[in-house]
Amino acid sequence: MATHGQSGGAGYVGRMGWDADILIAGGGLNGPALALALAQGGFRVTVVDARPAPARAEAGFDGRAYALAIASVRLLTAIGVWPRVADKAQPMLKIKASDGRAGDGAAPFFLHFDAAEIEEGPMGQMLEDRHLYAAFLAAMPGLLVGCDGRGSGVAARAGIRRVGWGYGQTALVTAIRHERDHQGIAQQFFMPAGPLAILPLKGGHHSSIVWSETDETAAAIQALPDAAYLAALRPRFGDFLGEIALAGERFTYPLSLSLAERFVGPRVALVGDAAHGVHPIAGQGLNLGLRDVAALAEVLILARRRGEEPGSPTALEDYQRWRRFDATALALGMDGVNRLFSSDNPILRLGRDLGMGVVNALPSVRRGFMRQAAGLTGELPKLLTGRQV
Ligand SMILES: Cc1cc2nc3c(=O)[nH]c(=O)nc-3n(C[C@H](O)[C@H](O)[C@H](O)COP(=O)(O)OP(=O)(O)OC[C@H]3O[C@@H](n4cnc5c(N)ncnc54)[C@H](O)[C@@H]3O)c2cc1C
Repeated sequence: MATHGQSGGAGYVGRMGWDADILIAGGGLNGPALALALAQGGFRVTVVDARPAPARAEAGFDGRAYALAIASVRLLTAIGVWPRVADKAQPMLKIKASDGRAGDGAAPFFLHFDAAEIEEGPMGQMLEDRHLYAAFLAAMPGLLVGCDGRGSGVAARAGIRRVGWGYGQTALVTAIRHERDHQGIAQQFFMPAGPLAILPLKGGHHSSIVWSETDETAAAIQALPDAAYLAALRPRFGDFLGEIALAGERFTYPLSLSLAERFVGPRVALVGDAAHGVHPIAGQGLNLGLRDVAALAEVLILARRRGEEPGSPTALEDYQRWRRFDATALALGMDGVNRLFSSDNPILRLGRDLGMGVVNALPSVRRGFMRQAAGLTGELPKLLTGRQV
């Protein structure tokens, strides 16, 4: 896929080549978001992706979805994408987390976040992958950029090394149809082998699950026929939503941490998973990437107004200063949360249950967590507040 932006616009280019200020390698989600933000600032942008675009625009329901924080929704609004998908999103009204074990039955909720406690409204929006990709493609009818994920060839070629490790965990991802309405509530059960997230999709009776198990167990479960897969899920899922059935394709994602040592090099910037691939335990990966998008777009647009060229070292350093510490701290924080909760050690269980109980009992601390997860804290780039640069 190759797409290309005119000054203030965007469009695909054919095989003849293109003329652009900025080349983006990788047209996943962060690539197109950055391209649209830069095109708004007057740049001509080219996005390239190894996969063909039309195949991605035609996807049917498969249950893969993202929890988008409030700040990410504001960015998507500012770059013109949100109006295309708003009617397909499910607001997250509550988030409940509990410490559980498969077969234990319904566990008491240790942490309960309610959107009514913050004035910004729903803490986030669940949006299916197929709708978000399609909206990006429709918004840039001829544009190409590259943010090439955790195996980033751009980083490797720029001599930027990566650090990280595997978690020995694999996420099983699929969609579930359930008898009772989810009422916009996201659930997270912390199991010894890894978390199970049940994330509400539009319509009330479908949820996307991200079910982490050890690599061996996940491989064995994925190999099961549908009925046996569902039988393995049931004791973990519980019966709070009534009868459940499989409603989407079954995917697996090996989980790892992968951090670039630098986010910039000479005339190169890394964005999204190319800069920081994190554990999905808190559903923050894409939200972090969209923070990069907003920060990089802002520093490049401001540099352009000062008369500097797109690869200006000052602008790239500004971007790295803005994003590297925040992204690395969050990645390591999620790494720690995963280690703390993916354990059956009784001392760790007691410590984390006490910790969750304390947070749950203190409304001001609870609100602080909610605002952090919604992406409303820290020095926010303009696009994350819904304003153009
Ligand atoms: C199980 C799971 C659940 C998740 N849930 C959430 C959630 O609820 N909320 C959230 O915010 N995040 C979530 N995430 C994280 C989110 O999926 C990622 O952070 C996000 O998709 C990264 O987007 P990206 O555009 O940076 O990279 P990618 O999506 O990896 O895209 C990279 C693109 O680059 C292309 N590419 C690669 N190499 C080349 C090359 N050499 N030349 C050209 N193109 C190339 C690829 O084809 C691909 O299209 C989840 C992740 C997982 C695994």
